[in-house]
Amino acid sequence: MNESDAERLASVLEKLDFKPANSENEADLIITLACSVRQKAVDRIWGKLRIWQKIKEKRPLITLLSGCILPKDKKKFAEYFDLVLDIKEISQSPKKLLDYLNSESGLKIADYFKIHPKYQTRFFAYVPIMTGCNNFCTYCAVPYTRGGEKSRPKKEIIEEIKNLIQNGYKSITLLGQNVNSYGQDLEAKPRIQSFKLEEPVNKHFIDLLIEINKIPGNFWFYFITNHPKDMSKELIENLPKLEKFGHYIHLPLQSGDNRILKKMNRHYTSLKYLKLVEEIKRALPDVNLSTDIIVGFPGETEKQFKNTAKIIEKVKYDMAYLNQYSPRPGTAASKLKDNVKKPIKRKREQIINEILKKTAEANNKKLVGSIQEVLVEQFKNGFNFGHTKNFKNIRFKFNVDFTGELVKVKVTNVTPWALEGEIIR
Ligand code: SAH
Ligand code: SF4
Repeated sequence: MNESDAERLASVLEKLDFKPANSENEADLIITLACSVRQKAVDRIWGKLRIWQKIKEKRPLITLLSGCILPKDKKKFAEYFDLVLDIKEISQSPKKLLDYLNSESGLKIADYFKIHPKYQTRFFAYVPIMTGCNNFCTYCAVPYTRGGEKSRPKKEIIEEIKNLIQNGYKSITLLGQNVNSYGQDLEAKPRIQSFKLEEPVNKHFIDLLIEINKIPGNFWFYFITNHPKDMSKELIENLPKLEKFGHYIHLPLQSGDNRILKKMNRHYTSLKYLKLVEEIKRALPDVNLSTDIIVGFPGETEKQFKNTAKIIEKVKYDMAYLNQYSPRPGTAASKLKDNVKKPIKRKREQIINEILKKTAEANNKKLVGSIQEVLVEQFKNGFNFGHTKNFKNIRFKFNVDFTGELVKVKVTNVTPWALEGEIIR
């Protein structure tokens, strides 16, 4: 999400005649897009501020802070940055930024989503379909930093993607904190809100995917992130029919222990999660499956951790993002004692990593000998690096730069996190 925000901001700045600097030593303006998911990223900003303060002592430099910032940090940072802007302010209207940077510019941009982003590459693009989140998982800063769910109109998303495809883009990743609930906020709200007892349906999201799939052109698309409580059978049943959808699913588990899941406010059980995985694998037998895990949530016992490890062994993921629990001020979980010691968190992370390495490598081994279509993203030291259609990292040696092209590659060798192959011509 931050990368996508950065692409959109870069485009506003270029319209104001700013040019990208090669390093912070050359920059007149530095914008920091903060991440508040863990404390580590917040601490890095303080480190950077010390460097920028030194530059400021010698010459003019404007520093601006935006992105995901918790209210408590915002107050502290305000003393050190020239301007602190809420990402919601930029996302709904970058006018404040423009006013600050160039009040004479006369450039009026009413809607952030309508800014044509300056994508980082010419074939791979992120397209936000919604911002914010309504879920309030007890550990998470996002609902506080990004606000409630706000979906982008379907027409606008389709136009942006059509435009990208016409300009040669080949890989589109739809972004949202909980893509499964796309469009629900666009519906008229019932006067009396009832508890959600019925199964999720994902009607608006499925409609969006079907429309995207119909866009002419040779491209692949993906979406992140799903929430297990909101991913419906209907959605899973529709996926194999969408021939441009790359079979990659990110389905955050967070914990495999039901009591911890409850304390996290995740609204599913490990059994329900496993059933969902089963349905996904039945629909997409070649699926590349990844997840997010938090180890050391307050009160997580050895037994509860083992329940997570068990689910990870069972699912046989291709990849996982492992996070040691970090208390976020203002969230519900921050009131619980962060009582799992750092070395134990580290140990639990290592144990999961070992399981993952095995399952990921075993999954990849099954691909040896297969022929994969590959979108090449980079050429370095005689190797072309890219992704397969189901988003596996792959490289092949060949002395021609195929960056931006789709080529066929035969898989010859694998590691847990990547494939290696030979180009077929
Ligand atoms: N909307 C996404 C997650 C966004 S945050 C989802 O529901 O999956 C990305 C990941 O950061 C989360 O999945 C979680 O694993 C991790 N995370 C969030 N808050 C955290 C915290 N306080 N400590 C450690 N990890 C955290
Ligand atoms: Fe955070 Fe939960 Fe929303 Fe994901 S679904 S952004 S973890 S509150």
